[in-house]
Amino acid sequence: MMLLYEGKAKKVFKTEDPEVLRIEYKDEVTAGNGAKHDFMEGKGRLNNLISSDIFKYLKKNGVASHFIERTSETEQKVKAVHIIPLEVAVRNVAAGSIVERLGFKNGEEFTPPLVELYYKKDELNDPILTDDHVLRLDIATEDEIRALKEAALKVNAALIKMMNMMGLKLIDFKIEFGRDKKGNILLADEISPDTCRIRDLETGENFDKDVYRNATGSLIDTYTKFYEKMEAVK
Ligand code: 5GP
Repeated sequence: MMLLYEGKAKKVFKTEDPEVLRIEYKDEVTAGNGAKHDFMEGKGRLNNLISSDIFKYLKKNGVASHFIERTSETEQKVKAVHIIPLEVAVRNVAAGSIVERLGFKNGEEFTPPLVELYYKKDELNDPILTDDHVLRLDIATEDEIRALKEAALKVNAALIKMMNMMGLKLIDFKIEFGRDKKGNILLADEISPDTCRIRDLETGENFDKDVYRNATGSLIDTYTKFYEKMEAVK
């Protein structure tokens, strides 16, 4: 079927049903908006397995998403949505860009969690936005901004619970949402160690893409271990 869109980590295809799309996860990894880029055998499979199981878990915990079903090791079927060009970030602990940009101390806890909106626009390097920017850019309405933030906090609470059972701590993550034909907002894209920062509760060891960003370990081994821990608490 027709290729609709190819991103850095996934391909999106049309299906015979206009309300359903097929996503194929690629064996590619990038960081720094494509500055670092590698082929990595088995990565697409791991991201697909992990993201599918996280969306299933979120559904059980009352969070609706675009996910329909996993159809193979590297593919899933999802509901067709128009992606809202925002990354909604939730931070439980200061790490990464917020430390570099605003001078928060690495490891500082955010209680309640901090929610941020970023403009999903590669050519602008995904800048942070205020609510007023989102309104002026016609990206979302005030009610939608509120709904996105609420949904992101609900995802956060559910993920914290799951990762706790796995002996892990959720530091932060970024998610995307889309609108379906009726204008309903649905969680979309993927949730995986590519999109979250996750640390071991005891050792502080990274279970996320930081091992690739900072070249501190094998991404495939790390994601495999994460998946095994996830399977063990299912
Ligand atoms: P930071 O703003 O510190 O770079 O990243 C915050 C969190 O967002 C981290 O967990 C990181 O993995 C995730 N993240 C960074 N870039 C992206 C992206 O382009 N897409 C998604 N979904 N998550 C991202």
